[in-house]
Amino acid sequence: MDMKTNRIDFVIGPIENYEDQLFGIRTAHEAYILLKDMEWSERLNKYAALLPILQKRLPVDPEFKAESPGSNSDLAAYDVVFYAGDCNSGSKTIAINLPNDEEVQLEKGSRRLQLKNAMQAKFDKILVPIAKELIVEDQQEYIRFDAFFSNTMFHEVAHGLGIKNTINGKGTVRESLAEQYSALEEGKADILGIFLVTQLQEMGELDVNLMDNYTTFLAGIFRSIRFGSSSAHGKANLVRYNYFKEKGAFVKDDNGKYRIDFEKMKAAVDQLSNEILLIQGRGDYEGAKEMLKKYGVLTDELEQDLRLINSRGIPVDIVFEQGPGKLGL
Ligand SMILES: [Zn+2]
Repeated sequence: MDMKTNRIDFVIGPIENYEDQLFGIRTAHEAYILLKDMEWSERLNKYAALLPILQKRLPVDPEFKAESPGSNSDLAAYDVVFYAGDCNSGSKTIAINLPNDEEVQLEKGSRRLQLKNAMQAKFDKILVPIAKELIVEDQQEYIRFDAFFSNTMFHEVAHGLGIKNTINGKGTVRESLAEQYSALEEGKADILGIFLVTQLQEMGELDVNLMDNYTTFLAGIFRSIRFGSSSAHGKANLVRYNYFKEKGAFVKDDNGKYRIDFEKMKAAVDQLSNEILLIQGRGDYEGAKEMLKKYGVLTDELEQDLRLINSRGIPVDIVFEQGPGKLGL
């Protein structure tokens, strides 16, 4: 964490706990070799400086956002040269936020790594084809890589926001929510990510058309649900899909295509952010379980949509061709 100016980054260790479905504690080994994109990284760092302000703007009572996010948190964009271990098995990571250890995070801040070439590949090969099948014709123009990039980037920023310790002496949020923690934390990062994009746009700090971000966000939900409800990311996306549906954030037209209602989606983003931050702050294990049970369900309607995507041969994920040979070494 103390190394700031290196152009090659190397991540290695037992890092993510997604494989431990019993207690969500045991971590799996993985490694990445990364090349830093200096120009993009500079742009991203501008937003890291805004973390304390963004924390204050979270849609929740002050006691639920009393911790200050690590001051030397840094954001950077990379092209990945090599994936190994956990990160190369199953769904491929496109952004990471490390370290996971809360104590180190509070002391050293966190580093958010955006894996640009992997992101672009997923956008081109998966997200765009999914959107063509499921989003109404006149909202297709809002499916954009820049929006996908910023949504993913702010997902990682959002992991660093909120609080790490419960407000009622139940210990860390991670401990108190046990095996429910991962799905809820991923859900938090997704929804707060789009909340942050909205805030920054309204503050004049981010020059985007929010409609791009929202439409691309919805298409992204279908992409991630395909990872399955047993994965933390898949589950979190199911919850959001059903929550959005309940709040009228989208409607389906006669052809079964999705149309976004911008105002309603914006309101639903605030509400869901609030609900998740409350559960985390209270270390409300039962509340977390209830939310995931109520909203984390695959409905027949959604299953049909997923079947349609599958029948079009759109891959669930990309596979890397990598190694010294591919690099000409
Ligand atoms: Zn995440």
